[in-house]
Amino acid sequence: MPGNLKAMKITDHVWQVGGDILTGSGDAAMYLLAFDNAAALIDAGCGNGHQQLVQNISQCLPAAAKIQYLFLTHCHYDHAGGAAAVRKQYGCAIAAHDLDAEYLEAGDSRVTAAQWYNAHLEPLAIDHKIQAAEETFKLGSGSITAYHCPGHSPGSIVLVTEVKGKKVLFGQDIHGPLHDDLLSNRRDYITSLNFLISLLR
Ligand SMILES: [Zn+2]
Repeated sequence: MPGNLKAMKITDHVWQVGGDILTGSGDAAMYLLAFDNAAALIDAGCGNGHQQLVQNISQCLPAAAKIQYLFLTHCHYDHAGGAAAVRKQYGCAIAAHDLDAEYLEAGDSRVTAAQWYNAHLEPLAIDHKIQAAEETFKLGSGSITAYHCPGHSPGSIVLVTEVKGKKVLFGQDIHGPLHDDLLSNRRDYITSLNFLISLLR
């Protein structure tokens, strides 16, 4: 039950703060990264469990740390529906790939899969649109790199950070599904999976 579980430490600097049983039914996993006084969130869930998310974040966010970014791995409702509330709460910038930002900013409830959740996605302004195949963001003494990995959606990204010399990859929906409503592309999907294998060798 949400409320009974606490944020889970994954490794130094990384916690899982949201997801189906941590914040609310239907929520995809949400992660917090903090290096010194700089922090970032990865994905925002549907938004129904916002208060629980805030409580979970407060359990692990270092006192001096400010959440600078919310990275959206892609435009789907179970990852992005709560993004506006998160930005309002923490004053962070929302970053997403340009090719998915288009559907978030338009409030497209088909391509963002909001319809699958019997929901409606309000148009969401994206503060930082990732255009390149990869982009690195500095986060205190650490950093996080976004890699464009289309397939599940046109602008899906994975995020990679490094903790004590080990890569930590946030892949989210790289497993799919592939669906016409989501503008999925099987060829891109295979290319992205092969890229990920090469990335972690
Ligand atoms: Zn998805």
